[in-house]
Amino acid sequence: MPVDCTFVTDLPLSEDQYSFADEDRADFATDYGTTSADASPPDVVVYPRSTEDVSTVLAAANERGVPVTPYAAGSGTESNAVPVQGGISLSMADFDRLLEFRPDDMQIDVEPGVVGADLEEYVSEEGLYFPAFPQSAKFSTIGGMIANDASGIRTVKYGEVRDWVLELEVVRADGVVIEVGSNAKKSSAGYNLTDLFVGSEGTLGVITRATLDLAVEPAERLAGRAIFSDLSDAADAIAETIRAGIDVATLELMDSLTAEISNTYTGTGLPAKPMLLFELHGRGIEAEYAALAEILERYNPEQIDTAFDAMQRDTLWRARREIGKALQAYDPTRQLEVAGDITVPIGSYAEMVRFVGEVADSFDLPIPAFGHAGDGNLHYAILANPDATAELERVHEASQRIVEEAIAHGGTCTGEHGIGVGKREYLRQEADAAAIETMQSIKSALDPNNILNPGKIFI
Ligand SMILES: Cc1cc2nc3c(=O)[nH]c(=O)nc-3n(C[C@H](O)[C@H](O)[C@H](O)COP(=O)(O)OP(=O)(O)OC[C@H]3O[C@@H](n4cnc5c(N)ncnc54)[C@H](O)[C@@H]3O)c2cc1C
Repeated sequence: MPVDCTFVTDLPLSEDQYSFADEDRADFATDYGTTSADASPPDVVVYPRSTEDVSTVLAAANERGVPVTPYAAGSGTESNAVPVQGGISLSMADFDRLLEFRPDDMQIDVEPGVVGADLEEYVSEEGLYFPAFPQSAKFSTIGGMIANDASGIRTVKYGEVRDWVLELEVVRADGVVIEVGSNAKKSSAGYNLTDLFVGSEGTLGVITRATLDLAVEPAERLAGRAIFSDLSDAADAIAETIRAGIDVATLELMDSLTAEISNTYTGTGLPAKPMLLFELHGRGIEAEYAALAEILERYNPEQIDTAFDAMQRDTLWRARREIGKALQAYDPTRQLEVAGDITVPIGSYAEMVRFVGEVADSFDLPIPAFGHAGDGNLHYAILANPDATAELERVHEASQRIVEEAIAHGGTCTGEHGIGVGKREYLRQEADAAAIETMQSIKSALDPNNILNPGKIFI
């Protein structure tokens, strides 16, 4: 059902700040995780350039009950930014300015449309960096990362995006602009509204400015990989590494199918074997590495390589970073139907890895598994032919089994991708009814007309 958005032409916006053209609307109908069958274009795309523009659009849409869905780089995996109920797609692309850099405070103010890699390049001149970036930071934006509470390969040491957000400027559904948080590293002043907006997937407000905390580039880095013949050995080594208190900055797992898929796409020479990729940061990391190697050696590695120079290290991480794209390119007859993202307590990690293998066997599906293993995160990808109905049902049943198992271990259906559309049913299974009701009452208090990204998180 089309939503009447013609009021947009009466707002104080210039004509190049909105478009009803089919080709422009089509650009906002999908994100990385949307299959072609689920594409859903907005009725109009609006391109705000200032907080005032966002406020004007939201106030007018709120009066009319018109849906507004913020859209950044569209790299979400759960159709998070897809306007499933039509209305307005709010393109955040023009909010791309780095505002104020305060190297002495190790902080930066940015607009939300700034791409992660641009921020990284800018702050690196002062020896600083943003350690919570996801693997998609080359193209995803700060606003999208905050709204999804993304995290990445260094989360095991440095935490997730939420841990590095100090202050936000947010436009509420009624158009009112609020500032939440503080530039202080810690604060007990009232409710933590900053954390409320982080991870809210554009359903509670539109972020128009963020103050981020930054870390100092490590004095030394040591990257390496351990190759195993048995996935189970690799998985067992992970929990022991963490339990032994080894201060890994990164500890990633790839199963053999994932390594093969990544290598086909990147040509980085990865053998098709299970492997752990790791990095250590700090001073005196040789001693830390010796302790790590001692643990890895106990799990029958075929080979452990270290002493990579900066270029070799980049190649290693490129192979990891490009798994997402490699999966999409792997088999042109299949689409990425499920981008699984479970996270479990570390003691259950190896069991979870083995369980995914059993599900792949019993459902007769290739399920590449990989993840930010050091923090208990395990991605599993299930590719399917979009026209094969029986196969699609099998795929979703297999995914359901994996999520149930993760929840049974005290884990979560999503460690970093958010709920969007694809994981709404899983949220109902994970959170108790009263907790979901509490979330919904927060949503109703902030967005009583349900205009902000409706159709997400809750069924
Ligand atoms: C190859 C690949 C690798 C990936 N690796 C990782 C990974 O390692 N870790 C990880 O966590 N994720 C990963 N992702 C998922 C994705 O990149 C992240 O969730 C990313 O943070 C989304 O950013 P975006 O700019 O693309 O936002 P979008 O996808 O455009 O939007 C994401 C959500 O944020 C909302 N939003 C956007 N801007 C605003 C705003 N200004 N105010 C309020 N809401 C807003 C949208 O409505 C939507 O709900 C990966 C994706 C791909 C394709």
